[in-house]
Amino acid sequence: MTESQHEQLQTAFGQDWSVETAAFLFAHAVPTPGGAYRLLITDVVVPPQDAYEQRTANRLTLSAAYMAQIYQQARGHRGAVIQAHSHPDGSLEPSTIDLANEAQTLPRLRYHAPGQPHGRMIVTPAALHARLFLLDGQDADLHVQVVGRSLRQLNFLTPTQDETYDRQIRAFGAAGQAQLRHLRVAVVGSGGTGSLAAQQLAHLGVGHIRMYDDDLLEDTNLNRVVGTVPDDVGRPKVDISAELTRRIQPTISAEPRQEDITVQQVARSLLDVDIVMACTDSQGSRAILSQLAYQYLLPVIDVGINIHVLPSGAVHISGRIQMLSPSLPCLLCTDSLDLAKVRTDLMTAGARQADPYVRGEDVKEPAVISLNSTAVGVAISMLLSAVTGLPIPSRYTLLKLDQSQMRTPEMVARPGCAHCSEQGAYSQGDTWTAPGRPE
Ligand SMILES: [Zn+2]
Ligand SMILES: [Zn+2]
Repeated sequence: MTESQHEQLQTAFGQDWSVETAAFLFAHAVPTPGGAYRLLITDVVVPPQDAYEQRTANRLTLSAAYMAQIYQQARGHRGAVIQAHSHPDGSLEPSTIDLANEAQTLPRLRYHAPGQPHGRMIVTPAALHARLFLLDGQDADLHVQVVGRSLRQLNFLTPTQDETYDRQIRAFGAAGQAQLRHLRVAVVGSGGTGSLAAQQLAHLGVGHIRMYDDDLLEDTNLNRVVGTVPDDVGRPKVDISAELTRRIQPTISAEPRQEDITVQQVARSLLDVDIVMACTDSQGSRAILSQLAYQYLLPVIDVGINIHVLPSGAVHISGRIQMLSPSLPCLLCTDSLDLAKVRTDLMTAGARQADPYVRGEDVKEPAVISLNSTAVGVAISMLLSAVTGLPIPSRYTLLKLDQSQMRTPEMVARPGCAHCSEQGAYSQGDTWTAPGRPE
């Protein structure tokens, strides 16, 4: 859910913790290639006081007339409905009364909005617990996240006791460390910047990292891809990156995928992670990640560093680190995409050969490890700020290293933007075609 939806819920539940409060979350349920669901909350509905027939510290009943309105809305919405209510006593388990109520309401929701995974959410003053009722009769834990400038999981997370992280827990707290341990991060690109990002995430104690890159390591990568030794030349970059993270953190779940993110099915496989580090200089990949971020409310941190050597011999070194997430402007709005290159990157091999404007050879760009790590350091710190609350407010940072400058200009979204506005891809889920090449 977005930060404003979360505020709406907090206001409703926080108004009176002496009695139970109900709310309904209408969601667009997107099945992920991994066999789970990603639920995009579209509406939060809070019953008015006169909708309650009974409302005490440990039970609530909504009137039949009000519930009829909810079923009607579910029928029109044709999405999933999460029935939420508060437990002022702090219990995260459903009561026997809750289960009896559910036995009444769930079949009706399934009748009015069939084929949807409906759910239950129990909210206490300190945490929440949510379950999703799947179509095969099973149920599963639902991880509830707030996405925007920050990314926080609201479910109860056991604080980490691990001594390994003592020094950073002193900086951002045990709750922040627990958020990191439960975080699922995808790193797109395992080259100069992506290898550094994965290395830092592993040291920070992030529990799940998935790497995407279809390239093999070359001799000319050894100057900057961390974790590599000369014997690795010819191996998939993702395998080297995954091995490095496992050496740093033996219990990590590291998932190397030697795949190209510009393929639609591969891009969709990102839907079961929590945040994406975009560490690729492919304009096509970055355009896809920008659309994906808003279409599926999946935060992305895009990091790029550019060394430009002019014919005069002057050297320009610039970097940009930008978070793409609800309430923040996308890559189109900050003019950070080369649209001609996006077009050629996303062509099929055949179309590219037939196109007279496609350059025959890849240009060999300069790359230096210390400059990469400057940009990646800013990007990972941005992730830490979003996830743990570490006070680093910028979500758009420009580096002008040839002038030793770091700037954080205020950027705004353009009305009607194709990626980040409600007239565009924003929160469309699978009602829009997912970005990427079909093959
Ligand atoms: Zn209850
Ligand atoms: Zn935009």
